[in-house]
Amino acid sequence: MKFQSIRSRLLLLTAIIVILALLSSFLVATRAFSLTLRETTYTELANNATYLKTLVDISDTPWIENHFDAYARSISTRITIIDREGNVLFDSDHDIAELDNHLWRQEIQEALQSGVAVSERRSSTQHLPVLYHAERVDDHPTIAVVRLSKTLNQLTGYQQSYEELFIRGIVVLVLLSLFISIFSITMLTKPLQKIKTVANKYARGELEAHVHLKGPRELQDLAKTMQEMAFQLKNKMTELESSRRQLEVMLDSLSEGIILLDASMEILVTNGAARLLMFETQQQTGKPILGVPLTHAISSPEIIGICGKTLLDGKSHETTTAHFEHLFGETALVVGKRKTKILKILSVPVFYATQQSKVQQIVLSINDMTELKRLEQIRKEFVANVSHELKTPITAIAGFSDTLINENTPDNASTQRFLQIINRQALNMQRIVEDLLLLSSLEQQNASPMRTWTAVDQIVEEVVEACRYRAEEKNSSFKTFVDNPLGLEILVNGMLIVQALSNLVVNALTYSADHSEVLLEITVEDQQVICKVIDHGSGIPKDALTRIFERFYRVDAARSRSQGGTGLGLSIVKHIVGVHGGTVSVESELGVGSTFTVVLPRSGHDLQNLQDRSDSLYQKNN
Ligand code: ADP
Repeated sequence: MKFQSIRSRLLLLTAIIVILALLSSFLVATRAFSLTLRETTYTELANNATYLKTLVDISDTPWIENHFDAYARSISTRITIIDREGNVLFDSDHDIAELDNHLWRQEIQEALQSGVAVSERRSSTQHLPVLYHAERVDDHPTIAVVRLSKTLNQLTGYQQSYEELFIRGIVVLVLLSLFISIFSITMLTKPLQKIKTVANKYARGELEAHVHLKGPRELQDLAKTMQEMAFQLKNKMTELESSRRQLEVMLDSLSEGIILLDASMEILVTNGAARLLMFETQQQTGKPILGVPLTHAISSPEIIGICGKTLLDGKSHETTTAHFEHLFGETALVVGKRKTKILKILSVPVFYATQQSKVQQIVLSINDMTELKRLEQIRKEFVANVSHELKTPITAIAGFSDTLINENTPDNASTQRFLQIINRQALNMQRIVEDLLLLSSLEQQNASPMRTWTAVDQIVEEVVEACRYRAEEKNSSFKTFVDNPLGLEILVNGMLIVQALSNLVVNALTYSADHSEVLLEITVEDQQVICKVIDHGSGIPKDALTRIFERFYRVDAARSRSQGGTGLGLSIVKHIVGVHGGTVSVESELGVGSTFTVVLPRSGHDLQNLQDRSDSLYQKNN
């Protein structure tokens, strides 16, 4: 582009302004001159016409052509004399024989009517304006009108000389103004150029760059403002950099691994712990981690699965998986053995204010659970071992004390009483040990008990049998109701389910007054089995509802103990239901009663999953 720079634009503008100014002055001057010239010419013509008319009027003698001729030449004016019929009697510039009748000329007609008239026409030869002044001559035998006319020749001369002056002036003025413009524009563009150079440096990140201008104040101010901006920017960048460093240091000092993913699951940020826990192999081989999709960096369907879920539903998801080198899950457990790490991974969605409904990023937090799991395993093993070791001596104590009581050997009452206490406590301990052993066996890793298709009625019968003693002790009635019109069987470990339901029923009987009623209600549906144990007993306080499934938690410890409770019954229920893939819940009101609900998948959760998967495949294929 030709006129892109300030310099060329200003130069063009100056040249246009100069030319326009000169042109307009030329037009104004020409117009003023022609107006003045017309005015003076008309006055001159009027004076001469008056003079001629007087001459014609006062002399009775006929007018002498030669005199008029000489007069016309002396005043450089054309004189025309016309009679009443419009015939030209005399013309100082033309032969009257060549002239036509003038009666209908505008100024002649007007003069005949009003005495004096003027008009202006363009000469047919020179195309110059010709001014006419006509006056009527009254009381003359032959002459009717005296007309004087003059061509405005001076106008052309004036215009020519002005044009010459204009062209010369334009050249001088344009040169002068160009010189001045170039000088002043250079004064302006030089500092601008300096500002541009320093702005380029700022753009390249050289924020320390300075510029000293001697130019116009406005540009000096601009340069100052730019420098201040650069200074502020530098400060902000330093602040940002230091807070970024702080964040990095903080992230790196966390024992928890943190990975930030974008919406397409590309890895944006990782901290030291995450690199150590998840990407050891990549680090050793020097493969990049940042900017790589998570699906390329790790081969864990569980982790990728929870990220996908979070992206879809915008909620947090959690998973626990084993990890060894680049392996995850079962394979890692098998290959890595003791070196395998157990990782708990939580995916949290990140939303930004602009788009609250869409997950923009995901934060993955990774916790190394290996040590915790190991300690838990040690604890479980310890409890199992201790329970196992205690079982025999406690059984012996309970058995022998019972024999002593029955043989009535103690000779005094207090020995008898002590023996009874020993026996009761030993029985309590025996129950605790048995419960602990059962819990331990349920807790064993991958505990999935043997399951068989079992008739619901058989389970109910065994529960009734197991709880009869308690119902009789309390003089309470224990009723059962089974809703199973199709007589469906359920895939469970019958012994464990009987244990769980018996625990619930015994509790219901224990924590109800004597002569009360407990109902076991079982509904068998196509997919699930719902078991409800309903009592009208003491109920459970609201704040205890969430805790009763914890080990050794009792609302009223003394009462529980006096009733032979171990504090482990509900914990066992929860575990049994858990290994069957079901849920247990409770609704209770103090003084009104409680309802414990156990929901189990009818065909066991593994089978159910298989069924679901095959159903979905079948649907897809259709
Ligand atoms: P416990 O051996 O003490 O019965 P559980 O684990 O079976 O231990 O129960 C925990 C506590 O929950 C009990 O101590 C009791 O306070 C409360 N609880 C359990 N079932 C009921 C019930 N049906 N009604 C009222 N309280 C109950």
